[in-house]
Formats: sequence, structure tokens, C-alpha cells
Amino acid sequence: MTLPETESWRLTYRGWDPEQQQHREAICTLGNGRFATRGAFEGAVAGDTHYPGTYMAGGYNRRTSVVAGREVENEDLVNLPNWLCLNFRPLEGDWLDLDAVTWLAYRQSLDIRQGVLTYALHFRDADGRETRLTSRRIVHMADSHLAAIQWQLEPVNWSGTVAIRSGIDGGVENRGVPRYRDLETRHLDGLAAEPCGDDTVLLRSATSQSRIDLAHAARTRAWRADGAGEQAREPVRDGGYIGHECYLAAQAGQPITVEKVAAFYSGRDRPVCEPGLDARAAVERAPGFDELLRTHAKAWARYWRGWDIGLHTDDNGDTEEQTVLRLHIFHLLQTTSLHTTEMDVGVPARGLHGEAYRGHIFWDELFILPLLNCHSPEITRGLLMYRYRRLREARRAAADAGLRGAMFPWQSGSSGREETQSLHLNPQSGRWLPDESSRQRHVNAAIVYNTWRYYEITGDSDFLAFAGAEMILSIARFWASLATYNTERGRYEIRGVVGPDEFHTRHPDSDEPGLANNAYTNAMAAWCLQTAERTLGELCPTPRDELLDRLEIDDAEIRRWGEIRRRMFIPFHGDGIISQFEGYEALQELDWSAYRERYGNIQRLDRILEAEGDDVNRYKASKQADLLMLFYLFSREQLEALFATMGYELDAQALPRNTAYYEARTSHGSTLSHIVHSWVLARSDRQRSWDLFGNALLSDLGDIQGGTTREGIHLGAMAGTVDLVLRGYTGLEPRDGVLWLDPMLPDGLREVAHQIHYRGHWIHLLVNHTKVTLHLEEGPCPPVRIGYGDTVHDLEPGSRLELPYGR
Ligand code: BGC
Repeated sequence: MTLPETESWRLTYRGWDPEQQQHREAICTLGNGRFATRGAFEGAVAGDTHYPGTYMAGGYNRRTSVVAGREVENEDLVNLPNWLCLNFRPLEGDWLDLDAVTWLAYRQSLDIRQGVLTYALHFRDADGRETRLTSRRIVHMADSHLAAIQWQLEPVNWSGTVAIRSGIDGGVENRGVPRYRDLETRHLDGLAAEPCGDDTVLLRSATSQSRIDLAHAARTRAWRADGAGEQAREPVRDGGYIGHECYLAAQAGQPITVEKVAAFYSGRDRPVCEPGLDARAAVERAPGFDELLRTHAKAWARYWRGWDIGLHTDDNGDTEEQTVLRLHIFHLLQTTSLHTTEMDVGVPARGLHGEAYRGHIFWDELFILPLLNCHSPEITRGLLMYRYRRLREARRAAADAGLRGAMFPWQSGSSGREETQSLHLNPQSGRWLPDESSRQRHVNAAIVYNTWRYYEITGDSDFLAFAGAEMILSIARFWASLATYNTERGRYEIRGVVGPDEFHTRHPDSDEPGLANNAYTNAMAAWCLQTAERTLGELCPTPRDELLDRLEIDDAEIRRWGEIRRRMFIPFHGDGIISQFEGYEALQELDWSAYRERYGNIQRLDRILEAEGDDVNRYKASKQADLLMLFYLFSREQLEALFATMGYELDAQALPRNTAYYEARTSHGSTLSHIVHSWVLARSDRQRSWDLFGNALLSDLGDIQGGTTREGIHLGAMAGTVDLVLRGYTGLEPRDGVLWLDPMLPDGLREVAHQIHYRGHWIHLLVNHTKVTLHLEEGPCPPVRIGYGDTVHDLEPGSRLELPYGR
């Protein structure tokens, strides 16, 4: 994998590399939180080299396929009509095909600050014609319905008529992930072109099952540098494609400008619209590319003011790490932005950047929402509302499982029902296997955690009273009904679940799926029950009593929650090791070096062992951080207190001891794993933490899983890296109305500067190895309470606080 060149705000790929093009397309995706388009070249056709996909937040559709003789229904984030389609040819020549020309220069670069993708190409065709082509593209960050392309096309050594074809292709399918291609791939129907102005086309379509009404309009204009315009233009219809072909007289050395402005509306938009009328009106009214670029860049500048993070690793100012962090923030905001808050959508684990995991929403929110809280809490609130609107479905799922309360799905899509596939393909063995991952009930704890953290940092008591508390209490009720009392132990247990480590889905030799007493799940269940009690304490009597009445929760039920959480069972083994689940200690040790030697990359050990006829369930081998998640989510003090309420003692060595134990037994088969390990080591082994942070930075840019990024970025890992610097290394933690700081910078990290949004304030923070400086912006808000060491300081608006580093 060749890494791009990085400058402070730019990534550049030089040289044409068909093998890596799909990976570059994912990295160069442009989006605005409503929709995103992969960074494929405009003239590219979907196939092994290119995959031009466009996805709308919440744009799902279901299809039934036959797999291994069984009918299975899957819900997918739909690949929408391709608005990029733009190509040219000399009248006597071929359409530009990046695979067929001779390259004189190739540059593909992403401007992260302004959100512009540029292709700067110089090539020779089979007949010796030399052409320069520069393409710039935006997906508009201010008007989220618009996108635009500008081409500068310069015939270097030839003249003659040039044909330009521009349109929208509705004949697209979901074919971005090879292992899903045996499943149904067509999701659009009702394709129809509607008449429009001379330079505009309009394509209508709809998703086949979810009936999302879609309209794409595109306006294309072309002119020569000396002002000469088109000589002729004709419509083109080809299957699902609708467009125009126009002709210009090209002259050597005279650039031709082509501008395409596209508008995309759907029946899901607010205010409710007639998508066709709105799309057409939007392109009619839209200004030219330069003006669109100006307003787009201004919108990005507004985001960057709050979001940019200064990270200095040496004396030379901006560094590679800084650029990668900016790239991660950029992709986060392209997937979920203020536009997302107008929509009923969650945050997909793989962004809007590809089709992996079908655009579903997982617990990865846990790595994303706490970061959003620090800069754009209104986005978090919107994403939490996605969950809240699906409470009814979660209640139904709990009831169907014979439980009470609300049970949210492991994979969520449109309705909030469980979307996890029942069978998955092991590409290594070619076998379709039962998928038990939906037993990851801990996703419910992630929802409580995110809701509570949002409340802690914003103090948004309206949200808590209106939606947050209802989710927290409903999930608490679910945990209480899932826990069973073991009379012999005198403790409550949770059975039949899968923890975050997806390698372990059952006890070896057991016919029953699921594990008993996954420590992470049990501890989080106890924490959720405790948080439910705290939530009630935060509500005013009127909303509290109304809610308890509506949910029919009485004092006896709340007392029972207290009893369960205080007597929750946590398995231990050896000398103070918290067992990942009950029985973990009896599993076999894996010969890690033998497997590494044999296979090289063993991140997906589950697939390797299954292909060998073995089963990863038999080994002390984890795909990702599981038990260590507890040390990631909570400070040492909080965790010790939580364990103490359950009647367990965690000593000061619990963190290093458990980290060392599980680190030696983890394959990091999920990109989330490096984040967690790096975070938990931040205090005990700063160098190792910094090294793992470096790995996490390369999750997508370096495609460390060997081929997964091309199917979509890993948004949890991207957000996680930013959060590691922002909260992890600074020890930033809102607790009980105080914002605590406990910085611990790795040696490689000289200085961090950023700003956070806290209870209506903007606080600017600078941490280096000498001091910690906080500056609270002027404003009408009350002072902020800052905790540092054993002291709590009151910071007045407009004032500054300087504290020595390493108290
Ligand atoms: C990980 C999960 C994660 C999912 C989506 C899986 O590989 O094991 O923890 O939620 O990917 O990112």
C-alpha cells in the first residue's frame, strides 16, 4: 500500500495505480452528512478497478436472496444513481478510459480544509493525442442538496471536434463488496427521465421496497477559453442512463471548461417536497462552480473553527499525524454533520463511503458520539434521537425474546429491527456460516453510555427529560429482566450473550449459542442500572413522575435494579485477571507465533481457523478489546467505584495486569481494538500507547486490514484517534458538574491545542509538557468549574487559567 503524500491540509496520490484505485476512492469520498459520493473519476465505470458509489444517509432498501438454499432478507444502504458521469472523446477517438491511456502525469488530491477533490491528469491516447485534464469536485457543505464538478480540458497537440457526454446513471447496483455479490444487488426501480431545460436532465427513481422517491438533476455547460460555446447537443438514453452529448471545436492549447452542477432530493427530505420539482429548480437556480466553491469552503471553514486540532510532534509545525487527524475529522463530518440533524438517521460504522456492513449502525457510536459531544453536541442529539424513535421496535424485540424493557439491535438500519445477517460468508473457506453476532446485547449499554455522556457534557436536561431518560430506564428494565439469579452463587448472571470480541460466540463443545457472564456486558449492565437510578435523581418531580407512571415503573422495580447491580457476577481467574467470560481460563492458549509465521496477517484468525476445520472459540484469542473496554470507558476511580458497588475490589495494578494479559491474546481484527489498547495504555506505557495510536492512524489510510477500506472507511477508528488526542491524552472528563483534566502526553506528542464545547461555552485548551492553559471565551454563561489534581478552579468567562503540567 503506497501512502499518499501529506501536506498540512492535503493528501496527494501520484501515479496511476489500478490495484489501489478503489481504496483511494474511499479515502477521497466527498459528502455533507446528507449524501456522499466516492472519489471515483467522473468517467469511471463500476468494475474491478473503479467503484463510483453514492449513498444517502438513511437510504436503505431490503431484498430477499437465496443463500446456501435458504431465503435471507438483507437491508442495504443503496447505491444511488451515479451523478458523476462525465466523459469526453475526440470525435474520431475513444472515450477517456484511465486504464487505456499512456500516463504522462497523474495526480489525485484531496483538499481537506475546503473539501475539494482534484484529478490532475496528463495522458496520451492510442493515436498520439496528448491531453491535460484537471477536474475539481465538491459535495456542497452549505446546500446539502448540491454537488458540482468543473473540468479544464486542454488538447495539447491536437485540434478537432470534441464530444462531451454528461448525465446520470440509474442503472447502478450494489456491487461494491465482492462477498455480497451472490445476494440481490438491484435496489432501484421506477427509473424515468423527465423533460427539462436544454442543458439539464432529470432522473426519477425509487428504492424497490422502502419506496424512497429519488430525483437527480444535472446541468452541464461547456465553453472554450476564448468564449466559443457548444456547436451542437443531443440527448442520450441508454438503459438507466440519461444525459446529453455536446460538441465543441477544440483547439490545441485552448482549454475547454465543462461545469456540471447536480442536485439530489428525496421524498425523505424536510421540509417535505416533491423531489423532482425541487431538484430541477435547484439546478436552475444554482450559480456556477466558482461561486458554489466559495460558499462550500466557507461552510467548511465554520466547521473547522470548532473542530481543528493542533497536534505537534516535532518543531516543524504541522506533521503527518496532524494531517491524518484532520482527514479523520473530515470524514466524520462528511458522514454526520448539522444536515444530519434534520434527518432521521444514525451513524453508519463504515461511513457513507462504501457498502461494507450494508451501511448499518452498530455500537461503533460509542467511539464517535463522545467526540461529537465536545464540538457539535447538536449532532449527537440528532443521532440519539435516531435511537429514541426506534424505542418501540426495541420494546417489541425484547417482548419477542420474552424479556421486558427495550432491546436495541446489534445492527440497525431503517426501522430499528435487528438487521444482522443470519449467515455470513467466510471468504477463506467459501462456507456460509451461522452468524451469532446479534447476541451482542452490550449495544444497549452503549446507548445508555452515549445518552449519559451527552447529558454530562451539555447539561441538556430537556433532552434527558424528554427522550434520554426514557431510553435509559427502558434499557435498565431490559438488563434487569435478562439477569437471572444463581442461588448457589448468590449473584445475578447474564447468559447467552456475545461480548465485543466476536471470536467467541459460544463455549467450546456447547450446542447453545452465546456465552455466560461476559464481564464487560455484566459490568455495563450494572452501570446502566446505576445510571438509571442517577437519571431519576436528575429529573424534576413532574417529568420524573410522569415518566415512571407512563412506563409503569414502581419503587419495588427500582429497588430490584439496585439489588441486581449490587450482586452482579463478574468472573475472575488467576491472580486478579478479570475473565473475559465465565470459563475463559479453561480455553487453550494459541500458538500465536506459529500462526503469524504461517499466515502473516492473522487479524481474522476466526476465518483462518474455520478454514482449517478448527474453531476460534476453543482458544484464548480475541478479535478485539473486550474486557479492556471497561478501562477505556471509565477512569480508574470510576471503575473501582463500580466494582466496589458490585462487591469486588480492583487494586491499583488491575489495569496494567489485565492489559498485559489481554494484549498478548488479541489479534486486533477490528480497527476499534487499537484505539482501546492505545487509550488504556496511555497512563501505564506511554510509548506503546503512542505506537498503537500510530497503527490506528493508519487503519484506513494504510488499509491495515488488507483490503477492507475500499469497501468503506472505519468511522469508529477515525473518530477514536481524534478522541484519543482530545480526551485520552489530556484526561478530559466531565464529572458531576466539573470538567476534570489529567493530562499524560506521550513523549512523541509535544503539544495539543484544541477547543471544546462545554455547557454552552467554548473552552480553548493547550497542553504541553510544561503547562496546561485554559481560556474560556467571553460570554453570558456562568463560570466553568475545572478540576485539576485535587483542586477545583472557577474559570470566569473571558479569563485564562495556567497550571503546571504533571501536578
Ligand atoms: C467489529 C465490531 C464493529 C463492527 C462494525 C466488527 O468487525 O468486531 O465491534 O461494531 O465491525 O464496525
